Amino acid sequence: MSNIYQQMTDDELRVARERLSCQADEMRARHLALDMARGKPSPAQVDLSRPMLSILGSDADLFDEGIDCANYGCFEGIPSARALGAELLGCSAEQCLVLGSSSLLIEHDILAMFWHCGTGGAEPWGSYSAAHDGVLPQVLCPVPGYDRHFGISENLGMLNIVVPMTETGPDMDVVERLVATDDSIKAIWCVPKYSNPTGITYSDEVVRRLVSMKTAAPDFKILWDNAYCVHDLYDTGDELANIFELARAAGHEERVVAFASTSKISFPGSGIAFVGASHELIAEFSAYMKAGLISADKLNQLRHTRFLPTSAALREHMAQHAALLRPRFELVETMLSEGLSNTGLATWTHPRGGYFVSFNGPVGSARRIVALAKELGVTLTPAGATFPAGQDFADCNIRIAPSYPSLEDLRAALEVLVLATHVVGAELAAQERGIA
Ligand code: PMP
Repeated sequence: MSNIYQQMTDDELRVARERLSCQADEMRARHLALDMARGKPSPAQVDLSRPMLSILGSDADLFDEGIDCANYGCFEGIPSARALGAELLGCSAEQCLVLGSSSLLIEHDILAMFWHCGTGGAEPWGSYSAAHDGVLPQVLCPVPGYDRHFGISENLGMLNIVVPMTETGPDMDVVERLVATDDSIKAIWCVPKYSNPTGITYSDEVVRRLVSMKTAAPDFKILWDNAYCVHDLYDTGDELANIFELARAAGHEERVVAFASTSKISFPGSGIAFVGASHELIAEFSAYMKAGLISADKLNQLRHTRFLPTSAALREHMAQHAALLRPRFELVETMLSEGLSNTGLATWTHPRGGYFVSFNGPVGSARRIVALAKELGVTLTPAGATFPAGQDFADCNIRIAPSYPSLEDLRAALEVLVLATHVVGAELAAQERGIA
């Protein structure tokens, strides 16, 4: 389907481009300096958790169910924090470890364990290549996806293989076909609820197929990063199936490694982070981690569970986040609809939670849109960032992160994005007919 600029006569296109060029000059004269690059909570969101900082005063009780949080011990995490993790991940507290402040670092460490030590008695992933004629172990990367996931596997020396994302999760026909016969495919990266960046939630059917599919690799893992598990924008959120229950029913509980953190519940980078998996895998991972960790920051765990002692308290807290985030997501929808609907220039997602909107411009446009937006004073997530090695071959996807800027700044940034999309769309149409 052609876009409005492709449908114009040469003269109409020339006039439109002159008009857009004037609009870009006006925008440049506003000297904007806005950043929409990463999905950080706004200062007002972070402030919601400030009361937590004074919970542990100098005379506070520092025990959690008999555990002294002010001293070494309790490697696996304090009971109340394991219970919180279990609730977020959908497993039992015994299947959950609370480690440090970053889920990404846990993901990094667990993949390092698979790489160096293997899992379940299988050979280390890092030895695969030497034993199989130099073939590298691979991980499936649904795209568009989360750049830092792709960075972890790439950094280890794994081959990132792209699989298309659909509105209900990864394209399972492709996933099943690939994993059934190729034992070098060791894992799949998943952000199953309010996915980064498309905002979609995996359907029950996709979750069921992931846990029950035949995998040539006996040590295949589903890396289930449930970073946005309680991050609904509306009272009725998307429902994600419980992967542990479905995996147990399918006889493949060993396949699931789930992660979450409070980075976007309390303080990004200073929250608490969780991993949930089968008892066997948790035992393997504990033994591996204990080589380098006596116990994580239990005072921070205690601070968190005193601040969010019940499911109701957590829900209430997340509703306050949602009240701050919702107008931003709704502004994205309104501005993009006003500026781009019925132009044939772009499509975008309509998430009901999470932190991102995924935007697709014309093929070959994303790098130019991001560069032009930068010139006009708006830093967007780099084009290609949502693909392994930054390679979006269609060069059309841009991740929109609306959480951090004020509504006023977000409005200005979206005006720039809309304008840049028109400018680049018209430029491409002119190029196509050799009149650029
Ligand atoms: N996973 C996903 C999907 C993310 O979007 C992010 C960024 N918030 C992270 C992990 C990082 O989380 P943490 O701060 O717990 O490392």
